Amino acid sequence: MRRYFIAGNWKMNKTVAEALELVEGLKKEVSGVAHRVMVAPPFTALDAVAKSLKGSEIILGAQNMSDQESGAHTGEVSVLMLKDLGVEVVILGHSERRLIYGESDEFINRKVRLAISRGLEVILCVGETLEQREAGKAEAVVEGQLAGSLKDVSEADLKKVTIAYEPVWAIGTGKTATPGDADAIHKAVRKKISGLYSAQAAEDLVIQYGGSVKPDNAKELMGMENIDGALVGGAALKLDSFVPIVKFD
Ligand code: PGA
Repeated sequence: MRRYFIAGNWKMNKTVAEALELVEGLKKEVSGVAHRVMVAPPFTALDAVAKSLKGSEIILGAQNMSDQESGAHTGEVSVLMLKDLGVEVVILGHSERRLIYGESDEFINRKVRLAISRGLEVILCVGETLEQREAGKAEAVVEGQLAGSLKDVSEADLKKVTIAYEPVWAIGTGKTATPGDADAIHKAVRKKISGLYSAQAAEDLVIQYGGSVKPDNAKELMGMENIDGALVGGAALKLDSFVPIVKFD
């Protein structure tokens, strides 16, 4: 049985004070919810949010990390630095990292393996651009990203991985994939994982949908057979939109 996993990706938003305000409210609103709930504040607010979340069931996530362990990497944040603050999950391969900062599957794969080897869980993002979708290549693109980003990740380690399918054309645009279109790609993801690993691994895999998830579309999306949660951007920045998504049912 897969457990729903709803994660808020705050991206480059919120000062420490704003982050604390949001998370304090969230703790009250979502206590006792059966789903896994995560917030991924910016690096600068992780420490404060970690302290605020002590004793709460809300999971602390980070939005990225370095592919290197330590050393001369100006401006980077390492896996051990994240662990030190109490981070449990790291989002890797977000399309903004892939497209704006040129991250390749090979580079993302190094981070995935490093994160898992140091005991973090990973939310690995995949998704096609509008151009790729219109060329009929959505499934092939996503399958390629999965194979590349999960190279040399064992079946045991795959248990530490959640996949987030985020069609690039739906992120921050207000355009959501129809539940049917999203589910079709989620199904393709499961099939690919079944081929790369096993039918059991595919069955157990939690696959989030991301891209303009809102209170009014969350329930329908979550109701699809292969959709097991959401990675939420814009709507995760406010209690009055994130809480109803977390409590979609
Ligand atoms: P959005 O972003 O919900 O603002 O579309 C989702 C994401 O990029 O994770």
